[in-house]
Amino acid sequence: MTLISTNMPTAELQALDTAHHMHPFTNNAELGAKGARIITRADGCWLNDSDGNRILDGMAGLWCVNVGYGRKELVDAAARQMQELPFYNTFFQTSHVPAIALSAKLAELAPGDLNHVFFAGSGSEANDTNLRMVRTYWDLKGKPGKNIVVSRWNAYHGSSVGSGSLGGMKGMHAQGGMPIPDIHHVGQPNWWAEGGDMTPDDFGRMRARELETAIEELGADRVAAFIAEPVQGAGGVIIPPTTYWPEIQRICDAHDILLIADEVICGFGRAGNWFGSQTMGIKPHIMTIAKGLSSGYMPIGGSIVCDEVAEVIGNAEFNHGYTYSGHPVACAVALENLRILEEEQIITRVQQDTGPYLREKFESLTEHPMVGEAQIVGMMGSIALTPDKASRAVFEAEEGTVGYICRERCFANNLIMRHVGDRMIISPPLVISKSEIDTLIERAWKSLDEAYATLRERGLFKARPAA
Ligand SMILES: *Cc1c(COP(=O)(O)O)cnc(C)c1O
Repeated sequence: MTLISTNMPTAELQALDTAHHMHPFTNNAELGAKGARIITRADGCWLNDSDGNRILDGMAGLWCVNVGYGRKELVDAAARQMQELPFYNTFFQTSHVPAIALSAKLAELAPGDLNHVFFAGSGSEANDTNLRMVRTYWDLKGKPGKNIVVSRWNAYHGSSVGSGSLGGMKGMHAQGGMPIPDIHHVGQPNWWAEGGDMTPDDFGRMRARELETAIEELGADRVAAFIAEPVQGAGGVIIPPTTYWPEIQRICDAHDILLIADEVICGFGRAGNWFGSQTMGIKPHIMTIAKGLSSGYMPIGGSIVCDEVAEVIGNAEFNHGYTYSGHPVACAVALENLRILEEEQIITRVQQDTGPYLREKFESLTEHPMVGEAQIVGMMGSIALTPDKASRAVFEAEEGTVGYICRERCFANNLIMRHVGDRMIISPPLVISKSEIDTLIERAWKSLDEAYATLRERGLFKARPAA
């Protein structure tokens, strides 16, 4: 067999990719016709591809490379741990130093009495754990019927059967028999798309009260937990109106419902604090973590659990776990990643320096003729594309058509910026510098201009008539 390496011509690598590699969340036939872009190396905020391009990564990989690419300390931590103890399980009355050290460190960083960590290999797995943990908690408290978990439409909680059911992505539910029973969805606090004539504050309260209505209809003795991302990520970086979270917190407290904050994106500095729950002022019983926990250098996720839930679960045998729960190499890398975030004061810099700088530049994109609103918190932001700002109109073309055109222009201009429907989103490495932010914004402007010209040319800059 020929040696497959980065020295191979791009077309050959693409052909092999098409022949054998099934990409997630992708129409593989379409991708095959076009060929995937082959990423070969990366450093800081920059990717190299097999054609020699340097691409600014405005998405930190997939919301995860918080400390940037090429951190040798993380490589060394992995190599050291692999030599010492590459694997051991934590199922059968054994433990190891990386899992002990990382769980203790997470207990120190997490707010309140979130002092206990159950490890998983990913965010999806961690949310499967959460689903079973909250149901088991109420069962052990003598309330086996309190097993419904309420989530939100357009939430993203992962791609396994359990976590995909918790999520509210209808396109996912349509494939493979989801959602599983006893998951209930309520509306998302997306004022731009769904707020109609209401003020954002009224809309935020209204959407929060959908949870209360659901609890009243289902019965508080049936509802185990509410799960939500502090700020929706994959749903399009939707920052809820300020009225939303306080009302959700009140409702969960009043009806004795556990609150699960899915911090997979918001955690580890992304939203300007260690955890998005701190930015949004919420007090969860469980936090889901993954992505930025290791800056994506190793796959690892987990649940940080409060004293009360951990105590109840801990008094029985929880028949649940993953071979790679607390994987020593992943834990060692995560621990080193947390050290870097802390010692280099990366989150403080996001909060006080580069975050506000990015905000100012990013918000200036609303001066572009097709950008309606810009929303940003910490280092996650989105812009809404619209043919008419005043009425917050949607495009006549099928949702996502315009976003896709814009995304393609960004790609061509060597900027990674994703589209979710007709929203464009960014989530750069937290270490992005001011001059790199300038480059990001310049390339975004250029791409928006080009997309705008294409829309005009193709007659697509048109609002959908009101129904
Ligand atoms: C990415 C993500 C997940 C799933 O994590 P995986 O590691 O891909 O399984 C869960 N929740 C949120 C909020 C995410 O963004």
